[in-house]
Amino acid sequence: MNTLTGQTFENQRVIVRVDFNVPIDDNFEVTDNTRIEAAKETIDYILNQGGRVILLSHFGRPTGREAKFSLKHILKTVSETLQRPVHFCSECVGPEATVAAEALGQGELLLMENVRFHKEETEGNLAFAEALAALGDVYVNDAFGAAHRAHASTTVIAQFFNKERKYFGKLLEREVMAIQTVLKDGKKPVLGILGGAKVSSKIPIIENLLDAVDELIIGGGMVYTFVKAQGGEVGNSICENDYCDYALNILEKAKEKDVQIHLPVDVIAGDDFANNANQKICDITHIPNGWEGMDAGPKTLEYLEKVVTKSKTILWNGPIGVFEFPHFAKGTIALGAAIAKATKAGTFSLVGGGDSVAAVKKFDLQDQMSYVSTGGGAMLESLEGKQLPGIVALTK
Ligand code: AMP
Repeated sequence: MNTLTGQTFENQRVIVRVDFNVPIDDNFEVTDNTRIEAAKETIDYILNQGGRVILLSHFGRPTGREAKFSLKHILKTVSETLQRPVHFCSECVGPEATVAAEALGQGELLLMENVRFHKEETEGNLAFAEALAALGDVYVNDAFGAAHRAHASTTVIAQFFNKERKYFGKLLEREVMAIQTVLKDGKKPVLGILGGAKVSSKIPIIENLLDAVDELIIGGGMVYTFVKAQGGEVGNSICENDYCDYALNILEKAKEKDVQIHLPVDVIAGDDFANNANQKICDITHIPNGWEGMDAGPKTLEYLEKVVTKSKTILWNGPIGVFEFPHFAKGTIALGAAIAKATKAGTFSLVGGGDSVAAVKKFDLQDQMSYVSTGGGAMLESLEGKQLPGIVALTK
């Protein structure tokens, strides 16, 4: 991995591909600046090493040059978050972009307009990538959230820089290291925790994790397919009947690979899929009709805490209950708290991919985890064992 550590950038124009695809409200105000904050370390480092930084990013999914997807809307927040003045160029290629990039002084920062205003970006067009590459002397990719896309500014551009001129940004480096720590170099016992709604959407992750972990907790909505497959009664719980055989196959494979699977023993069931539903605690194999499992039960939480406590490496993907309903969030909160406690005691914990990230943020546990990923799709594909094109391109 070509990292920034030890590199100097005196008088160099450094193109940094960031992921500033931040959420905004109806007034174009940024509602969560996490992704901008996450790029600060890389930008600060390059500027402190004498570089001139040219930022490339996508923003939303525009069809052509749609004003509402202009990065200009977030310029003020970018400047406030990075605590620096930021120039803006209303193009990312062409004469205007070239002039702006060349006019950039030492220690200055320039944000180019949304790369997706050109359809060539998502097409991975070679000439467009070459035009972007011409803006600078060095290329740094710090856009983990877009690293699974073989787009012009995330992947194709890298071929225009030789190996000494392209680098992993600090964020990209941290994400890659976190994944590696869990999937390859994890201190044993390595525990995977998979929650979320459906088995069908997690198949590649389950398959890959069976080769990487020692123990696997399966929770959330996907668990009822496993319970039904083994002859349990799941009432109205979410259950994918077409995947029962697959679930049995997974249990079998886990045995062969010596991976210990932990399923919940009891659940908090509701009589409606609503926050104010009536609740009752049921054995997971005996959920009556008219009731559906919506959160982990008290015996399960006690048991899962023990499994978490003895693990030295933890990957958490997916909530173990319908955490969006406060009355059914207890299990996800308790599991998060148990992981936080283990982390404090020295366990490495990675929270990655989708809703478990939302959950740790919602319950203010993010600072108590070793690492919380910034990339949804990119993290999921990494957990599936795929090589991300944006990362591969940096190492070629
Ligand atoms: P995923 O995107 O597959 O990780 O799924 C996340 C979603 O799973 C969240 O919106 C949770 O509300 C949902 N979920 C977790 N547990 C259950 C459950 N027991 N029944 C239905 N949905 C659930």
